[in-house]
Amino acid sequence: MKYIVYKTTTISASHFLPGHKKCGKMHGHNYKIEVWCSVDKLVKGMVVDFDKIKAIISEMDHKCINDLIVMPTAENMCLMIFIEVPNIVRVRIWETDNCYAEISK
Ligand SMILES: [Zn+2]
Repeated sequence: MKYIVYKTTTISASHFLPGHKKCGKMHGHNYKIEVWCSVDKLVKGMVVDFDKIKAIISEMDHKCINDLIVMPTAENMCLMIFIEVPNIVRVRIWETDNCYAEISK
């Protein structure tokens, strides 16, 4: 048996991809970020504190992501979240309505 929690958050942020023909110019996205966490045994009745997830994702809200990540692709934003959120098993970041990047265990 596993416990699973899910949280979705939307943030607005700017970025540019150094050296990229189209995305090399500063622009913005409304990113939809989905996080799944899972454990076999609860700690203090929780898989993870939802506020902790929110705090980690809020670090990127209304920021220029280049100030946080050298090559701020959705994949690398996923990696930052994957490293920081406790008990995470999947993160998916929608850069537009049509494309997302994901990391899963
Ligand atoms: Zn972009």
